[in-house]
Amino acid sequence: MVPELTSADTLSDAERSSAHGLEPFSGCLARHGLELNRGQTNTLQINVGLICNQVCRHCHLEAGPNRSEIMSKKTIEEVVAYAKRASFPVVDITGGAPEMNPHLGYLIENIAPVAPRLMMRANLTALAKENTDYLLRLCMANRVVIAASFPAVSASQTDSQRGKGVLEKSITMLKKLNDLGYGRDGTGLELNLVSNPTGAFLPASQDQAEKRFRRYLETKWGLSFNNLFTFANVPLGRFRTWLADSGNLDSYMKKLSASFNPCAVEGLMCRTLLSVNWEGYLFDCDFNLAMGVYLAGRKRHISEMDDLPEPGTQIPTGNHCYACTAGSGFT
Ligand code: SF4
Repeated sequence: MVPELTSADTLSDAERSSAHGLEPFSGCLARHGLELNRGQTNTLQINVGLICNQVCRHCHLEAGPNRSEIMSKKTIEEVVAYAKRASFPVVDITGGAPEMNPHLGYLIENIAPVAPRLMMRANLTALAKENTDYLLRLCMANRVVIAASFPAVSASQTDSQRGKGVLEKSITMLKKLNDLGYGRDGTGLELNLVSNPTGAFLPASQDQAEKRFRRYLETKWGLSFNNLFTFANVPLGRFRTWLADSGNLDSYMKKLSASFNPCAVEGLMCRTLLSVNWEGYLFDCDFNLAMGVYLAGRKRHISEMDDLPEPGTQIPTGNHCYACTAGSGFT
């Protein structure tokens, strides 16, 4: 059951900031003499829907088995047509669990020819369930980079965040991917892991975490991968509800704002990424998508776009942006 929002959750960012002594993100940028404007867009991120087989605690989109929002074949056709018109060096498929969209195969087959680098986020347990062999063959044939959620090497941490038995199932799927050549040297099949903290704290250094995961996975299960990316949980959706219910919301926001790194602003993903939701509407990133804040603050459908978004337009921000600028940043 989703708990009722507290009164603090109904406040605007500015009101909440002043109530809790947190400087609004926009004020923090201004104090550092910074602006957040779009650069040259190079990535099209396609959110194919909010259905997922898991109900992860940190999910900013509150994806899960009870959601029904899913990208239709018609919208996928509009997305592919736009990708052909605009030419993106990178296309990134995400969800929910993308594997649970029945048109995923159609999307991969049709967008791969116009995407020099095609990535797909996978939660490993959904990949193990949904048309596994067909999807894996398709991913291999189209050199799809798989970015697999893998928060921790410990079963208790992974299962508390993502559900009982998730670590074991994830290991089984990673073995299968390795057997097919994913994450193995010389195959050209890239397998990256994505790790995020299991509670109200910031991630460990990416370099150190990568070394630790590599050593542990290799020694214990003989598994390999290409890169590991760590990121801070964004205080939106289910994670925000958990923070509020556990009494961690204010301290987490303060932790994020205290770790503001002005050098991270230049490389923020919203400067170079365009995000499209399951209905075909456009956003500056998946977090603004979760907030319902449209691309440059204006509701626009992908079918109306002829080219890449104009560089220089201002990106709408909120206090959730502190998660992207904490420490070495979230790019
Ligand atoms: S949430 Fe992050 S990626 Fe999105 S607009 Fe804010 S800083 Fe940019």
